[in-house]
Amino acid sequence: MFFQRTLKKEISCVGIGLHSGAKVKLVLKPAPTGHGIILQRVEAGRVVVTIPALSEYVVDTSMATTLGRGGKTIGTVEHLLSAFSGLGVDNVLIEVHGPEVPIMDGSANPFVYLIKTAGVRRQVEAKSYMRMVGTVTVTDGDKWARLGPQPPFANASLSIISHIDFDHPVIGSQSYSFSFSDVSYDRQISRARTFGFLHEVEWLKANNLALGGSLDNAIVLDEFSVMNDDGLRFADEFARHKVLDCFGDVSLVGMPLIGVLEANKTGHGLNHMLVQAVLAKSESWEKVTTGEWLDGSTSSFTVPRLVMDEAY
Ligand SMILES: [Zn+2]
Repeated sequence: MFFQRTLKKEISCVGIGLHSGAKVKLVLKPAPTGHGIILQRVEAGRVVVTIPALSEYVVDTSMATTLGRGGKTIGTVEHLLSAFSGLGVDNVLIEVHGPEVPIMDGSANPFVYLIKTAGVRRQVEAKSYMRMVGTVTVTDGDKWARLGPQPPFANASLSIISHIDFDHPVIGSQSYSFSFSDVSYDRQISRARTFGFLHEVEWLKANNLALGGSLDNAIVLDEFSVMNDDGLRFADEFARHKVLDCFGDVSLVGMPLIGVLEANKTGHGLNHMLVQAVLAKSESWEKVTTGEWLDGSTSSFTVPRLVMDEAY
């Protein structure tokens, strides 16, 4: 049986908000079993809104994934949620002292570092999973995303296959396939940074958006090349970042997933459409707890290596 997990202790950091350019304090706190991941926006020492990390609270997916409730929003949640999902942390209270989660270096790795520094603690209740038993597909022109069951006897975890295709000499056509059972989220996914094109960055800044955006928190490409002095962290960093985003966006189903997600040219909008479609089609999945499922199954059950690593 695999148990729910939370942080061993509270931990915080300060970073820049990508869109506002303002300094934002982020506090991650341990939470009891069954709590889930909940975000709070704090202003002048007072909690102004409390929002569970669930798809029903998604209010905008145009630039990043933004959650909202009663007119108050918390933006750019996807990389932080990706880190919790990727490390198998189920219960945490997140305080965001500003309008958006800080962008850090544009990847999820600083959040992974923070979570590892706090440590992860096993709790007393079993984990519940959403296990896909049918397939759900959403499309938007040539973009599509499909979430379906793992093949029989495959690892009981989430696999993500991402395809991207950009008419740019550095990116071109890339695919990245990630399965929790054979590569670690920490090393292979969390370090992949978000990316943008110089002409987009100029347009955004002219329109008072992405004010905190810089070469410190994104890969920026001009017409021909990567503008960052240090270059890329992986040749296929772009496709890996799409996998990172998918982890964060699909975690808004509210449970860890067991299934295969294949995504073609998707962004936050289509990822959100997929989550909504899956939740609406309840016959496509079942809720299982690890104990119940193991009792009646001969399939091998593996979980992410990181999740099993008690060193966290
Ligand atoms: Zn991203």
